[in-house]
Amino acid sequence: MTGSSKASFCSMKDFLKQTGGFAVIDGGLATEFERHGADLNDPLWSAKCLVTSPHLIHSVHLDYLEAGADIISSSSYQATIQGFQAKGFSIEESESLLTKSVEIACEARNTYYDKCGTSSSMDDIILKKRPILVAASVGSYGAYLADGSEYSGIYGDSITLEKLKDFHRRRVQVLAESGADLIAFETIPNKIEAQAFAELLEEGDVKIPGWFSFNSKDGVNVVSGDSIKECIAIAESCEKVVAVGINCTPPRFIEGLVNEIEKVTSKPILVYPNSGESYDAERKEWVENTGVGDEDFVSYVEKWMDAGVSLLGGCCRTTPTTIRAIHKRLVNRRSH
Ligand SMILES: [Zn+2]
Repeated sequence: MTGSSKASFCSMKDFLKQTGGFAVIDGGLATEFERHGADLNDPLWSAKCLVTSPHLIHSVHLDYLEAGADIISSSSYQATIQGFQAKGFSIEESESLLTKSVEIACEARNTYYDKCGTSSSMDDIILKKRPILVAASVGSYGAYLADGSEYSGIYGDSITLEKLKDFHRRRVQVLAESGADLIAFETIPNKIEAQAFAELLEEGDVKIPGWFSFNSKDGVNVVSGDSIKECIAIAESCEKVVAVGINCTPPRFIEGLVNEIEKVTSKPILVYPNSGESYDAERKEWVENTGVGDEDFVSYVEKWMDAGVSLLGGCCRTTPTTIRAIHKRLVNRRSH
């Protein structure tokens, strides 16, 4: 796994054995790009940076690795062939932008390994050669719509399972061939899209596994109102799903959701909550000061590990500082 972008990752359980039972996922990408001055007020959101500022993407990936992330996610959450085409790109260009998102993450991993060879860790910078996974991020159909419907999960009656599969198919195929170790299906808002992803993963030409991560706004169900247990059960019955869990959900809801998830899965459980701030879908921005600080966020980490979570990170509005704090907690836990 080390050094090569063509890894033979196939089992999260084996990966977790190598990382001491727990692993750190990176934090928010788009909100971190914005913190560095990128203007993402665009239907492509973070994917816009693939065109305008690939260097920024590389540098944020590297920041997360130096903060202790064992898994980094590509900047393809909102990158879709249909979305790029609407911006005037050809199909070929759109596909190569998808591939590029994973290539940038793999390059950042290589840069990181090179740095590990030449310097040693300091207080704030962790330079340790270790197995690192690159996950190709796939956001929901609602993320492509860019109208906030990944936070409602309401796609309307005209959206069928087949339509969702057709929408995602080529994108998933391209990302599966991009050099990523796995696909992170993220912020899945409803059951029907989970089903679509599960069926796509099982189609013959997708050779890498994936993880399924849902979001919730009430701590009981996924955002559409579908049962979290039913959603996880879909992932559970798909052999190519290597971990399941929750992302982009306020920290206060996580423990209760994990307790439910555990009842229906034998797969490793992941959580990467947002900072707890609320998102104003109409204005397309996060409402300042409605969330929890890094210290509060991290105070939950022990509870989540006690509840059975083995992969931990952050989503929107979390930063390398959040990830560094999670990493420290995990190192303490591993040594006990
Ligand atoms: Zn998020």
